[in-house]
Amino acid sequence: MKVNELKISYIEKSHEELSYSEKKLLDEATAAAKKAYAPYSKFRVGAAVLLGNGEVLSGCNQENAAFPSGLCAERVTVFYANAKYPDVAVDTLLITVLDENGDYRGEPVPPCGACRQVLSETETRQGKPMRILLVGKSKVHEFSSVSDLLPFIFSGNELL
Ligand SMILES: [Zn+2]
Repeated sequence: MKVNELKISYIEKSHEELSYSEKKLLDEATAAAKKAYAPYSKFRVGAAVLLGNGEVLSGCNQENAAFPSGLCAERVTVFYANAKYPDVAVDTLLITVLDENGDYRGEPVPPCGACRQVLSETETRQGKPMRILLVGKSKVHEFSSVSDLLPFIFSGNELL
């Protein structure tokens, strides 16, 4: 028997340490979160992507009374980007969550498992790492690749 270890590293920084383009992404994601359709959870999530062509797109969570029919902000945004520009890579994805008062939630909120699966396949499909920024009230967690959020991905190669 052998025990293997997996090391994952990420950067923790403050809002003040965000670059100009990261702040722009945060502004877009924050504006999107304010438009979230979240009447059930009141969990208002905004996401914004910086694409390889320099364009920024954003999206927010869309809930539904039939809960599984809704969709998370990051999937709304990445699917939107992939639908609009199927051949352009997602360079950076930023995700933030607002509370009912419109303030950033305390801790950075990571994507759910289903979103991680989609983000991972998007990263594989584009052949380039997608940087992920998770923005909380005072802290930002930065991952250099989706694979740091979802190791041992079900890649689809298992189907071949
Ligand atoms: Zn999700």
